[in-house]
Amino acid sequence: MSAAPMIEARGIHKYFGSMHVLRGIDASVAHGEVAALMGSSGSGKSTFLRCLNRIEEPTEGEVLIDGSIITNMRTDVNRVRADIGMVFQDYNLFPHMTALENVALGLIHVRKRSRSEARDAAASALEQVGLADHLTKHPQQLSGGQQQRVAIARSLAMQPKAILFDEPTSALDPEMVHEVLDVMRALAGEGMTMVVVSHEIGFLRKVADQLIVFDAGLVVERGPTVRVLDEPEHERTREFLRALR
Ligand code: ADP
Ligand code: MG
Repeated sequence: MSAAPMIEARGIHKYFGSMHVLRGIDASVAHGEVAALMGSSGSGKSTFLRCLNRIEEPTEGEVLIDGSIITNMRTDVNRVRADIGMVFQDYNLFPHMTALENVALGLIHVRKRSRSEARDAAASALEQVGLADHLTKHPQQLSGGQQQRVAIARSLAMQPKAILFDEPTSALDPEMVHEVLDVMRALAGEGMTMVVVSHEIGFLRKVADQLIVFDAGLVVERGPTVRVLDEPEHERTREFLRALR
């Protein structure tokens, strides 16, 4: 294990036109650490997450993965997006493909595996998220929780260095939230580095090492999750936590 953090963001700014959405964000996530991002809607959490794997290009600042800068012209962005997986609120699965095909796709096209290797790796990733019996189903034959687990398997199959989760349970019916959080907790237990935008306080308390609170494109507070939740220092954090209850 190298000494460099798995993910490091330095001075990230992002403009959309004249709108200054990220106003200088620094963050560091160690190997095997789970970092959580919280903050009100529009505070920049998704944009920041998307800058970490260059789905969005930061206007200014640097991102380093395992000590290497990825925010430069030479970096292959497809490689970055495979190395730093992402799980979205709305799953983003291809509707015309089976679960297995959805998971195998990146292995074939980005990791350049043979079809048979990709199928084996995809099946084993789906097994890991508890979907061994659903390999040949299409997304519309699966529940929301199952679809989200397919999306997690799709990231996992790429053997990523880290996975970013953007409100992975907020589109789910309440009874399906736990099955997705359980998979995430297991991954964290296996040492996966994760950055999670979530307001599932009970889950974060158990699983997140670090909590980073966003407000209007800035980090207003950060620290060990339990400390920030139980003794928030910033008024915006207190307001935000009150509103969740
Ligand atoms: P959060 O995830 O915390 O709700 P976002 O990162 O999605 O916040 O959004 C931060 C701000 O950036 C919001 O004002 C949002 O409308 C704006 N924004 C996000 N994506 C885009 C985009 N592609 N084009 C223009 N504005 C955007
Ligand atoms: Mg968001």
